Amino acid sequence: MIEYESKIRLLKELRGQGIADPDVLSAIERVPREMFVPEAFRSRANDNDALPIGHGQTISQPVVVAYMTGQLELGGRMKVLEIGTGSGYQAAVLSTLCRRVYTIERYRALLRQAERRFDELRFSNITTRWDDGSRGWPEVAPFERIIVTAAAADVPPVLLNQLAPDGVMILPVGGDDEDQQLLKCRKRGEDVHYETLWPVRFVPLLADTVDDSGR
Ligand code: SAH
Repeated sequence: MIEYESKIRLLKELRGQGIADPDVLSAIERVPREMFVPEAFRSRANDNDALPIGHGQTISQPVVVAYMTGQLELGGRMKVLEIGTGSGYQAAVLSTLCRRVYTIERYRALLRQAERRFDELRFSNITTRWDDGSRGWPEVAPFERIIVTAAAADVPPVLLNQLAPDGVMILPVGGDDEDQQLLKCRKRGEDVHYETLWPVRFVPLLADTVDDSGR
């Protein structure tokens, strides 16, 4: 009951911050964020805050998840690639609005935990991979949509190459300490159109390594 009330409060807050897309709001309503945060933070799961998920990583703020999801302009038949599974929350939200989510995480322990959540909550259209996501997922490419939830210094060309024609990619760009911007890239023939969205703060995208601690 408490969770229901706090979820209503969260949805109201998201609307107040400009999230108007009914599909996005119902996706947020459907996915139980309390199942994606550590036990100690459960009572705060429906607060509009980023929260720690271990290994120095965070589950993003709900308004950022909602905003990025809306900006992806998802369709029910689309194949979506996510880099940075983290808790699995963003992937779960996406999975309610597209055909299949492919999600990559470099921390083995975080990925295994997210996989357990997907199984338990029966999010059956999410495929996971433990790897360096900056290489994308060439075996499944191209993707109609790509979302990166860790900040790179620049747009990774490999990921742009794995974007389908007319595809959209949303990603935070910028260094650890400087201001990061959310970028929206749209592929148009040989061209890519860029749009700068919100200022954001994400953990860095760490390329060329994976982490198997806690296996
Ligand atoms: N989308 C997540 C939040 C992501 S936090 C959620 O909903 O909870 C960013 C995640 O990106 C972290 O878990 C971090 O380990 C991961 N990450 C950073 N660099 C990566 C890389 N090169 N490949 C895959 N995952 C990476």
